[in-house]
Amino acid sequence: MSAQLLKGRDIAAKIKEDIKAEVESLKQKTGKSPKLVSIQVGENAASAVYIKSQKKNAENLGIEYELKTLDAGTTEESLISEIKKLNQDKSASGIIVQLPLPKGIDLRLAMSNITPGKDVEGMHPENLGHVLLGDAKFSPCTAQAAMTLIESTGVKLYGKEAVIIGHSEIVGKPLSLLLLNKFVTTTVCHIATGERGVLPEHVKKAEILVVAVGRAEIVKGDWIKEGAIVIDVGINRVGDKLVGDVEFEKAQERAAFITPVPGGVGPLTVTMLMRNVVSAYKEQV
Ligand code: NAP
Repeated sequence: MSAQLLKGRDIAAKIKEDIKAEVESLKQKTGKSPKLVSIQVGENAASAVYIKSQKKNAENLGIEYELKTLDAGTTEESLISEIKKLNQDKSASGIIVQLPLPKGIDLRLAMSNITPGKDVEGMHPENLGHVLLGDAKFSPCTAQAAMTLIESTGVKLYGKEAVIIGHSEIVGKPLSLLLLNKFVTTTVCHIATGERGVLPEHVKKAEILVVAVGRAEIVKGDWIKEGAIVIDVGINRVGDKLVGDVEFEKAQERAAFITPVPGGVGPLTVTMLMRNVVSAYKEQV
């Protein structure tokens, strides 16, 4: 068997058509466009890539994008004061804080100061709480992207066995709740699972497997359960190539559906962000 590729780019293209039409209609009704304001503290090559992609995506969809670059020496206090100004600014529909932040700035504190209605990355404790309650307006974009890819397969999720590797706040933890809310039996693996040497046992029972670790090919192809849905969130540079956390070639022979890296989760993550900006704007107007 050779798995069907879950091409995030194609799924994103369809969602973007809807977003674009909605932005156009909102513009006609309100005379204004949604706007995403991005705060960057200091310059950084990794965040520059994300900023470029966010700007391009926003502009293609008719969403305004403003980048506020603060000096690398910015204190936690002045970053929070900038966030508070944007909370009050009626022209800013959504606010994001680019990573990494310089040492001495508490990311969680910064995120907690974004008003929940403008927290388009879904990282405010109130929005994360709503993920647990199953009624979130904004959930973390990468978790949403993985969920959208899983649902795009059309496979009935009720009662399925899912295994997530990685328990970060942006992917594994919120995704485990999104799956649980769909009555998926969900196991979350992490560093201790890896150290105990039992990752293969867990992976072998996964009808839905999501890997978000950030280690090239940590999941071997022959661990994959026949017919599984495999969502590879990891992005790793190996030489001049980008590879995922799953040994793709071998996994493709066993899985029913698999995401490529690149072109899988990534394009959908930024699309989820844009969709959240439009939702935020709609609530605000
Ligand atoms: P992260 O915060 O570093 O989390 C990695 C997770 O993997 C942690 O929960 C860690 O556990 C766990 N882990 C580490 N080594 C392990 C091992 N040997 N066995 C089992 N679990 C292990 O990373 P992240 O931000 O979630 O990102 C993960 C990957 O996804 C990265 O490659 C990142 O670039 C990529 N990513 C892609 C997108 C996208 O849109 N495509 C978006 C976000 C992230 P401990 O915390 O307990 O150590």
